[in-house]
Amino acid sequence: MTATALPVPHDVVDPAMIERLLDKVVASPRAERAVVVAPFTGKALAELPISTPADVDVAFAAAREAQLGWAARPVEERARVIGRIHDVVLDRQSEIADVVQAESGKARRDAFEEIGDVALAARYAAARGPRLLRDRRRLGLVPGLTWALEVRQPKGVVGVISPWNYPLVLGITDGLPAFVAGNAVVHKPDSQAALTALLARSIAVEAGLPEALWQIVAGDGPGIGGAVVERADYLSFTGSTATGRIIGEQLGERLVGASLELGGKNAMLVLDDADVDRAAEGAVRACFANAGQLCVSMERLYVAAAVRDAFVDRFVDRARGLRVGAAFDYSCDMGSLASQVQLDKVVRHVEDAVAKGARVLTGGNPRPDLGPWFFEPTVLDGVRPGMLVADEETFGPVAAVHAVADDEAAVAAANDTDFGLNASVWTKDHDRGVRVAKRLRAGSVNVNEGYAAAWGSHDLPLGGMKASGLGRRHGREGILRYTESQSIVVQRVHGIAPLGDMSFDRFANTMTRALRAMRRTGRP
Ligand code: NAD
Repeated sequence: MTATALPVPHDVVDPAMIERLLDKVVASPRAERAVVVAPFTGKALAELPISTPADVDVAFAAAREAQLGWAARPVEERARVIGRIHDVVLDRQSEIADVVQAESGKARRDAFEEIGDVALAARYAAARGPRLLRDRRRLGLVPGLTWALEVRQPKGVVGVISPWNYPLVLGITDGLPAFVAGNAVVHKPDSQAALTALLARSIAVEAGLPEALWQIVAGDGPGIGGAVVERADYLSFTGSTATGRIIGEQLGERLVGASLELGGKNAMLVLDDADVDRAAEGAVRACFANAGQLCVSMERLYVAAAVRDAFVDRFVDRARGLRVGAAFDYSCDMGSLASQVQLDKVVRHVEDAVAKGARVLTGGNPRPDLGPWFFEPTVLDGVRPGMLVADEETFGPVAAVHAVADDEAAVAAANDTDFGLNASVWTKDHDRGVRVAKRLRAGSVNVNEGYAAAWGSHDLPLGGMKASGLGRRHGREGILRYTESQSIVVQRVHGIAPLGDMSFDRFANTMTRALRAMRRTGRP
């Protein structure tokens, strides 16, 4: 494993730029400040102003006013603004990657993955939005007489609450379809992701988004996040299942809708006909991308007994060969964990597993020589129920390998969890892969890939089953969730009632004949 010299994040991120970004938090000039620490060094990176509930009121009032003007613009015009974000984010990628890395401690390649995904999300929302959101003629009650129209109205002001692990993707991509659909956004990022959120907002403004349309507030989860939940017309939440349950209850009380993108304990299945080289290489990406702090990353690997040894040898070799370190270029494969809390959790899970009989095949240790919160890519064998690492989401670079007899056993083991976010199946037979995928209770399944193929296919809905969430981001649903459908009907010539002095007997007979005729035509 390569160790690199610790950079001082201020060397790469201009402090004046940080101050300009922090200025855009909706908070008073005398606001309390919270120190944001750079994971590569453990040193202060910024002092984030903290909003109060009164500031959240101010943010909502400004967003409400801006939303009216924005929604009145043609959808094509709104889509053009979002489309330009694609270009700006690619043009400014180097500066963006510096900020993302400084704030999150991730490797440059993981920061680029975020940049690429924002470009994909912007392109999709801009290209698909206008067609999806236009008024649609529907079948009316009486053919020719009932003229039916489905209209999509924006929800109004959408609350977005996002976590720290993918600060750029989760900071902006849920807002893009909301904007195309004519909404404003009040956003509370995690404090460890606020700088990136503010930078993303400045990019959107550069692309033409009205400043007031995207308000950013900062503060703790229950207090300021809670204030957003209380005021939003719809909520897009990404974070832990525990928080999702609390928010779901609060929104239920107000009858406000939400998409809740929550945690996972994702399984990878290596079937007996898999290309083990390719599977091992894919497993390294799937388990250790973003140091495992990825909701869709793999923590449980079920490998057919026939290929178990060949797979594990290759997987462990590759994991051992990863270059771990702090570098603002592409020379490292894996970066740091994002905080002391994350490091403590990963250490706790590994120590608990080892104490209860698991074997470390590689890794297993913190790396303070690289930076305060680095941890080695770790592969465990002999993990059993009752160990923290078996039962809970670790959210770190730790994968457990299990041998299974056949597909049946692999499917049963993969489904034996409260979560259902993402899964991965490896086989040379694509039909078999799809057959196995359909038996998995996971919102997305990648065949011969870990997570990036499903996440990056923006035309597909993405989200969790079971305790991994409610609703979907991406695809049609990802855009339409931000709208209220409205049914407008024009009844022509005559109302839904007997004609002239027709008796109700005759009307009922006529209607019965008409209903039967319509059923014969196959009309829905
Ligand atoms: P978290 O739930 O602790 O925090 C997420 C966000 O919610 C933060 O901004 C936080 O301040 C806010 N928050 C916390 N309590 C709140 C409350 N009571 N009311 C309103 N807001 C509140 O999650 P985390 O630990 O920061 O993030 C990691 C988790 O997120 C993992 O479980 C991971 O799997 C999940 N995640 C899921 C997805 C997905 O797409 N499904 C993507 C990324 C992360």
